[in-house]
Amino acid sequence: MITFNDVSLVYPNGTQGLKNINVEINEGEFVVIVGLSGAGKSTFIRSVNRMVTPTDGELLVNGENIIPKKGKELRKLRTSVGMIFQNYNLVNRSSVIKNTISGRLGHTGTIRSVFNLYPKADKKLAFENLKRVHMEEKIYNRADELSGGQQQRVSIARVLTQEPSIILADEPVASLDPPTSHQVMTYLRRVNKEDNITTIVNLHFIDMAMEYADRIIGMRDGEIVFDGLVNEVEEKT
Ligand code: ADP
Ligand code: ADP
Repeated sequence: MITFNDVSLVYPNGTQGLKNINVEINEGEFVVIVGLSGAGKSTFIRSVNRMVTPTDGELLVNGENIIPKKGKELRKLRTSVGMIFQNYNLVNRSSVIKNTISGRLGHTGTIRSVFNLYPKADKKLAFENLKRVHMEEKIYNRADELSGGQQQRVSIARVLTQEPSIILADEPVASLDPPTSHQVMTYLRRVNKEDNITTIVNLHFIDMAMEYADRIIGMRDGEIVFDGLVNEVEEKT
């Protein structure tokens, strides 16, 4: 469960990224945030794993206010909140399996991972997750040998290997063509349902949001201007 209580975020240069956000996201929900560029979608998502820090209010993630967290507590939060990026953020020179297993970093610690000392069980988990996104035939390919869609599928396998309770996806299909975008959204949606992982996805396009979301949140100028189930959007438009 994620609860925003009067959350605001003002960037150091004075730009208001979020204005008095009040919202609750339930366990297992698949929420899509839509809005124009600059609406605050990314700021919203990045607040939940504290890549950015709200300047006011209270933000509860699994019962704890995460705004004051630092150091070890913050690393723990980031282990339970996985992230998927527009540009995949894979290590290009590294293999698909190594990229995937790096999802265990928060569990294993940097020192062990530097020496590739991941437990066997972690390797097995990484491989199982690559199978779920149908990338098991490419495990020894370098990340930069893959198409965009394939790289995003590996990044889904990586985030699953992290075993998070929440997945945040910041414009995960913005660099992909429409058929590949649908493929990636289908995988995200499937793992959300199979594993009951709370998922928040930012998208530019309302059509795609309508097709995959349980619930749609619309943002404009740092504020929530719509929050409803998909059928409620259909009634309004
Ligand atoms: P979206 O994801 O909907 O495109 P963002 O959350 O990225 O919107 O941005 C919301 C507002 O905050 C915009 O006005 C943007 O320019 C501003 N903003 C985003 N990041 C920063 C930053 N690091 N410093 C200052 N302003 C920022
Ligand atoms: P899929 O639909 O399975 O995601 P694509 O049709 O995008 O795959 O790609 C087809 C094949 O071309 C794949 O085997 C992929 O490895 C390869 N490929 C696509 N883009 C690149 C690239 N930029 N560099 C190297 N290989 C690529």
